[in-house]
Amino acid sequence: MSAKSEKVEMIKKVKDGLDVWDDIFRYAAAADYSAIHPDDFERMKWYGIYRQRPNDGHFMVRIKIPGGQLTGFKLREIGKLANQYGRGFGDVTTRQDIQLHWFRIEYMPDFLDRIYNKLGMYQNFGCGDAPRNVCGCPLAGLAADEIVDTSEMVPAVSLMYKEGGKEFSNLPRKHKTTITGCRIHCAAPQINEIGIFGVERVRNGTIERGLGVCVGGGLRDTPHYAESLRVFLKPDIELVKDVCRKLTHLYRDQDSLRQGRLRARFKFYVAEVGWRRVRDQLEEYLGYQLEHDESIVGPVGVGNDDHVGPGLQKNGLMYLGVPIPRGRLSGEQMIQLADLADKYCADEKRQLNTTIKQNIIFLNVPPAKLSDLSKELADIGLPADAHPVRRSLISCTGIQFCNLSIVETKERSKRILDYLEKNVPMDEPIFVSVTGCPNSCAQYQIADIGLQGTLYTWKGQKGVEHYHMLVGGRQGVDPEFGRFITDEGDKKVKVPAELVHLSIEKLIRAYQAERTDGEKFADWAQRQEMSRLAALVKPPEDAEIPATA
Ligand code: SF4
Repeated sequence: MSAKSEKVEMIKKVKDGLDVWDDIFRYAAAADYSAIHPDDFERMKWYGIYRQRPNDGHFMVRIKIPGGQLTGFKLREIGKLANQYGRGFGDVTTRQDIQLHWFRIEYMPDFLDRIYNKLGMYQNFGCGDAPRNVCGCPLAGLAADEIVDTSEMVPAVSLMYKEGGKEFSNLPRKHKTTITGCRIHCAAPQINEIGIFGVERVRNGTIERGLGVCVGGGLRDTPHYAESLRVFLKPDIELVKDVCRKLTHLYRDQDSLRQGRLRARFKFYVAEVGWRRVRDQLEEYLGYQLEHDESIVGPVGVGNDDHVGPGLQKNGLMYLGVPIPRGRLSGEQMIQLADLADKYCADEKRQLNTTIKQNIIFLNVPPAKLSDLSKELADIGLPADAHPVRRSLISCTGIQFCNLSIVETKERSKRILDYLEKNVPMDEPIFVSVTGCPNSCAQYQIADIGLQGTLYTWKGQKGVEHYHMLVGGRQGVDPEFGRFITDEGDKKVKVPAELVHLSIEKLIRAYQAERTDGEKFADWAQRQEMSRLAALVKPPEDAEIPATA
């Protein structure tokens, strides 16, 4: 067993992550960061409480939002927490959570009281070796053309994990579930350990709608797309809960995975034994057979979008997706969005939803009020009808707060966005991911254009921030990961961070000039010779880093 695995497995054995609850309050009462036992820092992750960089007594708190389903009441309180404890901002994450920073241990009792008691939310399994936030389509139950309504399944599965408690609290590593019934499979089932997706098939001349299951997806620096189990599930909440529960048990019980943290994810098990064996084992765990359907090889028609912009719901009301550049909102903007939700959204139970592209969707807006809402959003600096790249650029936390990061990402994303908005007209979203290290929290392998941070020497100066670039990630029944752009020597091309917006521009302009009818960026990028891509993105020999660097 690796030293790191041994350490974490021992921490979990000595005391379960969930059992750190009382200690959080004890440490908070003492208001002494230095008194916190090092192992309890690890365990606090089970409640989404995480030491942030630099290690100077502050925490990041990840507020767990199953399926991203929010109300104005909840978002207002999160905005107030950001203002009171988090230096006035927060980040929507790629798992539809909201992360706040700069929390101190003494803030935790009030924070947890407000989350659990005032908002009726919970932090159990916010992080740690446990099931992470269950993701879902923001329009679940509302999209006029959705395949299956998963709006109640997502919170039900999340609650099943929470109520299971120690049944799920000691997995070999993190474990991700997504459930999406929309036609574009916006919550990315293929990059989750458990991906439940909408399926439509014809039986005896009639269309039948249900769900497929894929398993073993995940990114990091060893990306795997999930494999379909070729089963057809009736859209029944109890059945979906059962399948998620037993797949998680199956993963939990693979003790061999606990030997090394780097290879402890479910994706390695699925790759080793194959999806047929996993399906057999799932049925053994369930105690009954699922309906097999060999034609369900994966989600069909996966898009790169997350419902940003306006659209008609099945109940006659409208939704309006708002791009949140790099996912960052001030506490004030959260409160303003909450106020707008209360003013414009007709159903107080479904007002707002975060998306995995770090955006926010307004739900249940009467059509007659849509333009007033759009105007008020523009007034607070969050226009809904923005440049396409604004809706599809995502960024991980980066060096500002992440202990693993190699480069800065949030400010870089803003500068890339500002440049593209000013200089590159676009007629469709191109998914750009800015990621601070190989871990891929911003999913660079599935992006149209992915950036992975690294340090390199530039004109004799060591340790200059650079990015490796990947192009052509796409999901669906013919999935491809983005290809690293490499030079003649097969080495990854490195572009100085200060010049990377120019490389992105060249790729986009080449695509726009050369695309065939309706061709997507990813398809164009996949058919390019590597030498061509390298020539496009490599900075010229005489390029200078601008004075702003
Ligand atoms: Fe941190 Fe790396 Fe994840 Fe970015 S991708 S948040 S730098 S671990």
